[in-house]
Amino acid sequence: YNTSSSMAVNNGVSPSPTSGLIVSFGEMLIDFVPTVSGVSLAEAPGFLKAPGGAPANVAIAVSRLGGRAAFVGKLGDDEFGRMLAGILEESGVSGEGITFDTGARTALAFVTLRADGEREFMFYRNPSADMLLTPDELNLDLIRSGKVFHYGSISLIVEPCRSAHLKAMEVAKDAGALLSYDPNLRLPLWPSPEEAREQIMSIWDKADVIKVSDVELEFLTGSDKIDDESAMSLWHPNLKLLLVTLGEKGCRYYTKNFHGSVDAFHVTAVDTTGAGDSFVGALLCKIVDDQSVLEDEARLKEILIFACACGAITTTKKGAIPALPTESQVLSLLNGE
Ligand code: ADP
Repeated sequence: YNTSSSMAVNNGVSPSPTSGLIVSFGEMLIDFVPTVSGVSLAEAPGFLKAPGGAPANVAIAVSRLGGRAAFVGKLGDDEFGRMLAGILEESGVSGEGITFDTGARTALAFVTLRADGEREFMFYRNPSADMLLTPDELNLDLIRSGKVFHYGSISLIVEPCRSAHLKAMEVAKDAGALLSYDPNLRLPLWPSPEEAREQIMSIWDKADVIKVSDVELEFLTGSDKIDDESAMSLWHPNLKLLLVTLGEKGCRYYTKNFHGSVDAFHVTAVDTTGAGDSFVGALLCKIVDDQSVLEDEARLKEILIFACACGAITTTKKGAIPALPTESQVLSLLNGE
């Protein structure tokens, strides 16, 4: 790998030595998805392992695009935990922030989309290793070295992980990192919807960049309207960018001085898992070294078009991680190839 060659395509193996580090904090787990579609969990004849966890997906999305990423979180000291750490390593994501729990297992989630369109979940988190990360186990030097610190809300659900999350966020902020928040609402994991809303909002004002989906916008505002007014009701004074992703309808963006929308790309979607993570990874990759783009609508729009292309490509293949694009794949879509 020749770093001086502009032709070098980064496949996630060799992170670019020049760009700022994006630290992604939270859970990494294995989704077990039925080998056939349209069945209930009980009917499924077998399951395939699909590595996931939104913060881990974001880290891999960044790396695959040629950026520098680190994942911070806890895995079980078991076959699955080692397998996930191996996937991060192969993808070029720094594992310096990963710890292993000798007592608890790596989290599993059995997920299916039944023929009636209902999603069925069954989680093995009683507790899982990710929930047991403590503030003392954080690699603070790694967190301080990040230019961007990204996180979700699943790590807020229980202690001690919640305290670890809050400490990591504070350390990152004090070190001058840009804080990026994608709540990634997973209602079945929370004790109640009220608790979910309250905890998700408890760290709202700390973030510099927030991305929500249309479903999350409805949930957080308690309104079924997806318009500028409801989006802006989520605005906070220190926010630099608010994004609302709309699946096949693209996304909307809001800053202090301007707002607008970007259309989605037309693709044949086979599995939308990870589209939002791909979108976020792309955005972070493109703003990490020059945050002035957040105040320049024309440049920001270019970046969001790129991020939408990443999201679209991710829907064209089964699973999240295998579908995350390289820069050259994105350029092909952007150039209409
Ligand atoms: P999340 O995965 O967080 O729910 P979305 O599904 O809204 O997020 O996807 C994020 C972005 O990915 C969208 O803004 C859009 O640009 C792109 N995307 C998602 N689904 C599709 C689709 N079916 N066709 C084209 N682009 C899509």
